[in-house]
Amino acid sequence: MSTATLPDLHPLLKDFLSRQRHKLLIDGAPVDAASGRTFETLNPATGERLGTVAEGAAADVDRAVAAARKALSGPWAKLSPAERERVLHKAADLLESRAEAFAQLEVLDNGKPIREAKNGDLPLAVGLLRYFGGWPTKIHGETTPVSVPYFPGAKFLHYTVREPVGVVGAIIPWNFPLLMAVERLAPALACGNTVVLKPAEQTPLAALWLGELLLEAGVPPGVVNVVPGFGPTAGAAIAAHMGIDKVTFTGSTEVGREVVKASAGNMKRLSMELGGKSPNIVFADADLDAAAKGIFMGVFYNQGQCCSAGSRVFIERSIYDKALEAFAARAKTVRQGNPLDPKTHMGPLVSAEQRDRVLSYIESGKKEGAQLLAGGAAAPGAGFFVQPTVFGGVKDEMTIAREEIFGPVASVTPFDTVEEAVARANGTDYGLVSAVWTKDVKKAHRMAQMIKAGTVWINCYHFVDAAAPWGGVKQSGYGREKGPWAIENYTTLKSVWVDLN
Ligand code: ADP
Repeated sequence: MSTATLPDLHPLLKDFLSRQRHKLLIDGAPVDAASGRTFETLNPATGERLGTVAEGAAADVDRAVAAARKALSGPWAKLSPAERERVLHKAADLLESRAEAFAQLEVLDNGKPIREAKNGDLPLAVGLLRYFGGWPTKIHGETTPVSVPYFPGAKFLHYTVREPVGVVGAIIPWNFPLLMAVERLAPALACGNTVVLKPAEQTPLAALWLGELLLEAGVPPGVVNVVPGFGPTAGAAIAAHMGIDKVTFTGSTEVGREVVKASAGNMKRLSMELGGKSPNIVFADADLDAAAKGIFMGVFYNQGQCCSAGSRVFIERSIYDKALEAFAARAKTVRQGNPLDPKTHMGPLVSAEQRDRVLSYIESGKKEGAQLLAGGAAAPGAGFFVQPTVFGGVKDEMTIAREEIFGPVASVTPFDTVEEAVARANGTDYGLVSAVWTKDVKKAHRMAQMIKAGTVWINCYHFVDAAAPWGGVKQSGYGREKGPWAIENYTTLKSVWVDLN
């Protein structure tokens, strides 16, 4: 497709990008990094520079934490719950009115296809702001009947109060830059916390622009501070900071482990959303058309760069050959190309590094004897494209079946019985999500009971909602984002006793 037929960039986005140099957002103002250092963010579809960004590090995190701590007892805390709701709803309205511009920014910084950014990331982000925007007036404590054994018959009033945790450090990845930022900010703000947010170094722009939008919506300065930078410097400084009360982290299990260790200094509260190697299990009695779509979307959505990718596909043996052939044939028809083109199915991976990592996994699949049925190489062009890749006959011990690839690579394997499917699905260190395809209701629910994962999708895949909990078990992490569980995550419970005698 020629660039002449592509949609023009939204004027607001053109304006934002024309700044060229993007600063940190601390205490409501754009500031350079203390070191004066910057880094470049690239458009992964072309490899060209999209912008230059101030590179935050420990000294900037210190400044951001000081601003966040001051703001904790400032105007944000003084707003009534109803007023806080209005601010969050205004933010939702602003984001919705700029959805096209933000969707385009996600495409340019991350490489995801515009159809996914517009139909997925943006409505979900707006939905999160609306959902959590409704919470401030509903966060309350309870009264509790209590007795004190050494004062028989004595009367006490006991009640609980839910209070903000304090300063929240949010460290997020590059696969859903805007959505991840909103997923942390919306509940944190609804509960009255202040935040220091570090977007991933590959995709810093959406969080910075969102930070400005929140100021415009009425979030007071210092409540949301955005410090782009690298993991080992800015990220590590957040994880270890004595002035941060809670860290919410999404990223690899390996880095998650470092964050847990670093956070021990002041006993930070943690919520950890880590890696996955999720099973997508298709029984012969499934609606096979729906299952085919679910397998495809499960592993190739967002170029496979989802912690919830259904990267291990188990297909019941009686339909295995036919289903695998159809899956591979479909993978070959994927339209890869300019992600701003509404017809594009699949864009580039986020970076050259990620492309090379995924390609090395593809090589390991070939070497270890998996059957390559589709893709298997980088796609031509300047961007960081990898063809959608399907491996059949994958054995559970192969590297591609064990390690999180975070790219468009499916490992497909046959199974014979429910017990075998469950044992193999659970035979991983991870436990984020899973899916089962069958028309047999009892089998579906039995599977849902036996699979060890934070989410089980039955006859669907990749469904998420602001009201449904999200998080993993085993080495996929702990804590739940979204829904009322996020409110628990971002508050502490105080116990108050009153002697009435
Ligand atoms: P991914 O594999 O998705 O890139 P990472 O775990 O490498 O996931 O990165 C997720 C987030 O964690 C990014 O914002 C990154 O900068 C940050 N990060 C990386 N290393 C560290 C670290 N040592 N301490 C804190 N944050 C880190």
